[in-house]
Amino acid sequence: MTKLRLAIVGAGPAGIYAADILLKAERKFDVSIDLFEQLPAPYGLVRYGVAPDHPRIKGIINALRDVLDRGDIRIFGNVRFGVDITLDDLKHHYNAVIFSTGAVEDAPLDIPGIDLDGSYGAAEFVSWFDGHPDVPRTWPLEAESIAVIGNGNVALDVARMLAKHPEDLLPTEIPANVHEGLQQSPVTDVHVFGRRGPAQVKFTPLELRELGELNDVDMILADEDFDYDEASKAAVASNKQVMVIDRVLQQWRKRETGQASRRLHLHFYAKPLEVVDDGSGKVAAFRYERTRPDGQGGVEGTGEIREVPIQALYRAVGYFGSPLPGVPFDSRHGVIPNHEGKVLHPESNERVPGVYATGWIKRGPVGLIGHTKSDAMETISHVINDQADWWTPVEPDEEAIVALLESRGVAYTDLEGWHLLDQHEIALGEPQGRARIKVVPREEMVAISRAQPSDDGTPSA
Ligand SMILES: Cc1cc2nc3c(=O)[nH]c(=O)nc-3n(C[C@H](O)[C@H](O)[C@H](O)COP(=O)(O)OP(=O)(O)OC[C@H]3O[C@@H](n4cnc5c(N)ncnc54)[C@H](O)[C@@H]3O)c2cc1C
Repeated sequence: MTKLRLAIVGAGPAGIYAADILLKAERKFDVSIDLFEQLPAPYGLVRYGVAPDHPRIKGIINALRDVLDRGDIRIFGNVRFGVDITLDDLKHHYNAVIFSTGAVEDAPLDIPGIDLDGSYGAAEFVSWFDGHPDVPRTWPLEAESIAVIGNGNVALDVARMLAKHPEDLLPTEIPANVHEGLQQSPVTDVHVFGRRGPAQVKFTPLELRELGELNDVDMILADEDFDYDEASKAAVASNKQVMVIDRVLQQWRKRETGQASRRLHLHFYAKPLEVVDDGSGKVAAFRYERTRPDGQGGVEGTGEIREVPIQALYRAVGYFGSPLPGVPFDSRHGVIPNHEGKVLHPESNERVPGVYATGWIKRGPVGLIGHTKSDAMETISHVINDQADWWTPVEPDEEAIVALLESRGVAYTDLEGWHLLDQHEIALGEPQGRARIKVVPREEMVAISRAQPSDDGTPSA
């Protein structure tokens, strides 16, 4: 029987679902899958993006773990495509590759002052609070008044993590350095700015509602933002999600405020104009133009300029994919150009045989974890039907890729290694009654993963 040797690059939900779907699919050939991941731990943004105080979503990891624990997918962690292995290596050893490398960069916000000291991308901050090994251990939390730009769920995550009292995060899996960092924060006011009105936000009701449940944090809204135009009234009346969002906001408007030590302000109809310099290169204020509904569900400028004093600003205006060496890239949209997951040359639009994409790097950084499953189904259906276009590898032997990594001195980790790290993190959390405490430094993650377990099952490193 023919055998498909498939490489998948990126062990986030998209890569793991793709592997699972292919293994369970009806097909006329055998399959052997190797999953390459640049980090020593799998699960992508579910581990390093989803906020630590969202344990229900983090729980999706259990379903992904079940797939890996079946043992029919080999995982090579701590292996970076483009550094440790190349496209030519994959052609040498496999019949095809699926890229599921996601998106980790911040999309740009092109306004004056965005590069000032104290202006940050949400993705960097998210990586810090989720204990990503490749970002610094400390985060400058010195501002009393902070702006968050954006009206999607990531903006709400960032605002919530900044406004929430650190002791309320203790039951979660936040790393010790993050808890310590947040304890130093003198923040009193977090201002979230959106360009459009309450009936046009991109965040979802569940995530919004959470803000109102924060201990010792007042929700501050301005009456002027709730003078709805006809298009907004129609959206509230016809769209269930908008209706619920409106209901939540209206309830907050009626709440008494003034007692809490922290405030979370939601500003609508605010178009970013500039991050104002304090004269020494640091953030001093956020300048915006007040907008108004344009009657068609959009907004237009009013010419009225406003300013809010702040000392730090976070832009949460979207994520952006990164190019991979030797792989086509659409630098305008931050994705690998493709048709239904089949990768295309950016200029000619011709098919690149043997190369596929799935997840955020295929579709762009929008949508929930569940969407990566339907994405993977589409890509896998093409992998199955494209047999005539697969590569013909010179060394398809499963041990040959292991020998290659070893010859290059790549300290790769495997499923067994991940189990060791996972158990280690769970054991760290136990004395404090926490589900786990993440290990953050990459060297430590690798050392634990590559250690021989001792007789009692704990790693000896
Ligand atoms: C801040 C934030 C909060 C979110 N919260 C939620 C939520 O509450 N609920 C929800 O449903 N969705 C949430 N999402 C969306 C969800 O995270 C994504 O839908 C999903 O993770 C996308 O999956 P993916 O596999 O395409 O990408 P990713 O999860 O990013 O996985 C990509 C993987 O590829 C690896 N990789 C990248 N480059 C290389 C390389 N060169 N070599 C090897 N490996 C590489 C990465 O390390 C990563 O592990 C959130 C997203 C963000 C950013």
